[in-house]
Amino acid sequence: MSTTNTTPAAAPQYPEQVTGMDILARALRMVGIDTMYGLVGIPVTEFAYIAQERGIRFVGFRHEQQAGMAAATHGYLTHTPGVLLTVSSLGFMNGLTSTVNATVNCYPMIQISGSSVREPIDLDQGTYEGLDQYNVAKPLVKAAYRVNKPEDIPTAVVRAYRAAISGRPGGVYLDVTEPCLGAIMQGADADKLFYTPVDLCPAMPPAPEAVKRAAELLASAKRPAIVIGKGAAYARVEDRLKKLVETYKVPYFPMSMGKGVLPDTGELSALSCRSTIMEQADVVILAGARLNWLLSRGHGKWSPDTKFIQFDIEAEEIDCNRPIAAPVVGDLASSLDAFLTEMDGKKMSTDPAWIPALQAETKTKNAKFEARLADNASAQPMNHWTALGAIKPVMAANPDVILVNEGANTLDDTRDTLDMALPRHRIDCATWAIMGMGMGSSIGAAVATGKSVVAIEGDSAFGFSGMDFSTICRFKLPVTVVIFNNGGIYNGIGVNASGGTDPAPTTLDVHARYDKLGDAFGATTYYVTTPADLAKALTEAIASKKPCLIDVQLAADSGKESGHIGYLNPAALEHFTV
Ligand code: ADP
Ligand code: MG
Repeated sequence: MSTTNTTPAAAPQYPEQVTGMDILARALRMVGIDTMYGLVGIPVTEFAYIAQERGIRFVGFRHEQQAGMAAATHGYLTHTPGVLLTVSSLGFMNGLTSTVNATVNCYPMIQISGSSVREPIDLDQGTYEGLDQYNVAKPLVKAAYRVNKPEDIPTAVVRAYRAAISGRPGGVYLDVTEPCLGAIMQGADADKLFYTPVDLCPAMPPAPEAVKRAAELLASAKRPAIVIGKGAAYARVEDRLKKLVETYKVPYFPMSMGKGVLPDTGELSALSCRSTIMEQADVVILAGARLNWLLSRGHGKWSPDTKFIQFDIEAEEIDCNRPIAAPVVGDLASSLDAFLTEMDGKKMSTDPAWIPALQAETKTKNAKFEARLADNASAQPMNHWTALGAIKPVMAANPDVILVNEGANTLDDTRDTLDMALPRHRIDCATWAIMGMGMGSSIGAAVATGKSVVAIEGDSAFGFSGMDFSTICRFKLPVTVVIFNNGGIYNGIGVNASGGTDPAPTTLDVHARYDKLGDAFGATTYYVTTPADLAKALTEAIASKKPCLIDVQLAADSGKESGHIGYLNPAALEHFTV
């Protein structure tokens, strides 16, 4: 049928002949991909040019891991796979980190990587950037495919797309060998490869008896509650959840990235009553949230009597850590539609004291929190609470700004301080609690949505991705990066126990001027030491819709070891002088 040439090819005789690269770009367009994040080099540089020419926006990065974080965030925010392009060997490995992180977090993304000629790799003879990438990726990602012939590219792209998006979403690896990228086909033969795939993200409705069981359990609850996870944010079910919560008066608390699916300050928000719900609720709905470490151990303990209704797309998730009384396996939109229909006309059995008790607790706890912010409002040098007290009203006045957040104390304290009003407006280090997603996720969020982004970063967290601030500048994105500089990992007061002059393992640069890093790339920058200047700088920065960097000087002793998860590393506490 086609004439395939797997040796490095001469330029095709346009328009009669096309290369694998051309077919790959067209195949991506065929499934609706319009953006690609990556970092080029051998053997994918020409491919990126072709993709750009064919109308795929190419966002070039300084480090593949950040390009991958951008692709993953793009996938999460758009409910379509984000695409990462990497070169062979090290570029592939750097990018793979984010593809694996996407898999853990259930974000749909596809990493496309060029790879070297297969034969010397299989014989372990040593070749340029020779690595058996497909087999390295395979155990770590949701699915992996390798494509060796240009005729197979459209099928490979459709398979990668479906694997990334269907069921529980995740990261998919698509290996495209260098001979495949360079292979030449007759254009007329290539044309025949393309088609319109039907229903790339099919609905997966639940079984009616599962829905019935769940509705009966909820209606019998005396003290019901809903936990809203990032699976619900991803599934875009805020309207359905609002109806459920308001019609049946079910209090809710969000997981970190579930914040804003329903407003944090809503009447039935039990955001501040997490422990009470874990101890006292008798029926809890899990809506796109896993009962993993973030809902146990140092994060609270469920009563042994709590019964769970779990809405999840992944059947294997059910009973993972606790027996689930009423599993509802299906996509959340279909499942909640069926559930709301089944609930229609049912009477709830809620204890009349349950909601008022949660509302009273919320009031008391919120007053305490406000008092803490007020107590720290004029601390000099500023601490995390001083800075967040200044940021809070500015972010409240700009609810449609997407918040990206990472660090230790910077993560925990920001999450506790800033209320979210809209779904999918908080992106953070999520399930693995990793560092090093800040610039990538900010770029992915800004590119995918066109909205303004504010990234609140610990100084250590910023270090992992800081060079890609230059990407924000090159693409002129409306992103403001706020760096909380307390001079270290956790804080800047670690002590070198040897008595030597080297810094302690946790110590960074409390006097570093991160704003000058922004100057190098033409951003608008600020260095602030007072809450008033911080509030003014952030207000201006958001309004400018331009790349901005605010270096916030904190005290070196602000922040504690590991923030809220110090219990995972208790022995380290003795290394800090306080
Ligand atoms: P959180 O960290 O916010 O608790 P998790 O990432 O632990 O959230 O859980 C998200 C859950 O949502 C996963 O178990 C995943 O299978 C599920 N999920 C993802 N997309 C959908 C969907 N469209 N419908 C139903 N469940 C989904
Ligand atoms: Mg720090």
